[in-house]
Amino acid sequence: MGTFKAIRIDKADKGTTAALTQFDEAELMEGDVTVAVEWSTLNYKDGLAVTGKAPVVRRFPMIAGIDFAGTVAQSSHPDWKVGDKVVCNGWGMGETHLGAYAEKARVKGDWLVRLPDGMSTREAMAIGTAGYTAMLSVLALEQHGLTPASGPVVVTGAAGGVGSVATAVLSKLGYQVIASTGRMSEADYLKGLGAAEVIDRAELTGAAKPLAKERWAGGVDSVGSTTLANLLSMTKYGGAIAACGLAAGMDLPSSVAPFILRGVCLLGIDSVMCPLPRRQLAWSRLASDLDRRKLADITQEITLDQVVGTGPKILAGQVRGRIVVKIV
Ligand code: NDP
Repeated sequence: MGTFKAIRIDKADKGTTAALTQFDEAELMEGDVTVAVEWSTLNYKDGLAVTGKAPVVRRFPMIAGIDFAGTVAQSSHPDWKVGDKVVCNGWGMGETHLGAYAEKARVKGDWLVRLPDGMSTREAMAIGTAGYTAMLSVLALEQHGLTPASGPVVVTGAAGGVGSVATAVLSKLGYQVIASTGRMSEADYLKGLGAAEVIDRAELTGAAKPLAKERWAGGVDSVGSTTLANLLSMTKYGGAIAACGLAAGMDLPSSVAPFILRGVCLLGIDSVMCPLPRRQLAWSRLASDLDRRKLADITQEITLDQVVGTGPKILAGQVRGRIVVKIV
């Protein structure tokens, strides 16, 4: 057995350390499929893990990285054979199970999704957990009964990863998208993704009234806190907001008024433990409902040795769109 390149997180006297190093293959955890990782991504949660800003990592040593795409190198799982192209995200990777910023990953075959036809491993990670979470949010809104005829939809944190993909997908599906951003300098970028209107997030950050003027039929919120409270108070009768993030905070200073007076629904989105059939549906919808040219426009590329240095930027809200990480 040899070693492979990986970003290793160790416990330190104060907090944790993160460094690109050689990892011993013998230390890989249990799993029936070994994958040669080709691409990963930098998500908000990865930023938390590599900076140690939040206790994302719960086992040491850890290999950071919550998602990867690559090729099966070894398998004793009936569904997977050597050479299969796969995508994996969540399931505790980078938190409790050795993660994706590595040349090799060993995981349970039951965690893997087959790469959709016509999608490259790089494109899959340009989408990554953030883009797949955006699609889970869209699926939840559709399941609620939302259609483009229901009215406009709002996307918060629009210039971030979840927000950029949500904006692109919803506009391709025919929705009138209102994109909320703290970076009005990115208005042209957001219009290029298909936003019909770009609003300053300051409009949504003050204390929320129980009910405010009805502005949208639905929304995708990656921000939380007072932003989510304002979204709810401005949602039209019978509408729904998919809540998937906490970029502004974990609290929700809202009231029951939107729920009991307007029948508004709050839809919770979790990507980590999401069951396999839902994941497969999300990835197949991403293959058909996300414009690849727009995906290319929102994607920047970094190498494995740049991940630790880029972590603080995503936490500071300075990353536009998505970052793919080239592993080999
Ligand atoms: P990004 O950092 O790429 O995007 C977050 C965006 O939120 C920023 O670009 C910024 O957009 C906005 N934002 C940042 N800070 C604040 C603030 N203080 N107040 C208001 N808006 C702010 O992260 P991701 O898109 O990768 O993730 C977004 C959120 O979704 C994170 O909280 C993440 O943890 C969560 N998430 C949850 C998942 C789940 O399973 N539920 C899965 C994936 C992500 P702008 O500049 O346009 O305002």
